[in-house]
Amino acid sequence: MATTKTRKASATKKMTATEATQFDTYSVTNAATVETSFEDCGCEAYIDCFTYNRWKALGYQVQGGQHGVKIPAIKNIEKQTDDGTVETRRLFRYVVVFCRHQVEPVKSPIPSDRPIGELLADLGV
Ligand SMILES: [Zn+2]
Repeated sequence: MATTKTRKASATKKMTATEATQFDTYSVTNAATVETSFEDCGCEAYIDCFTYNRWKALGYQVQGGQHGVKIPAIKNIEKQTDDGTVETRRLFRYVVVFCRHQVEPVKSPIPSDRPIGELLADLGV
């Protein structure tokens, strides 16, 4: 009997800009590590320093060649068990954070100096 193997699409939800600046927990140790690492520029943890994905959600891109600060983090993962209940597991991992001096706004593919009506007219819309 032939079986078809299906791969479930990733259920990872795209982070919004608001979510990017909110944290479930705060770590005094991590904040001290980050602020010591970015002491020269004065950036503060949880305000000026975020992970790559959080910066991306905020509309920024980490500049090429930049090195972030690696800190331990715990992520809560909700998983549905076979009996239908949802259990939360804590996943330990390391994340890398970058300060606001290491990122730049993502450039829009549409030039911002022209009205959208002109751009649509160029396309014949
Ligand atoms: Zn900085």
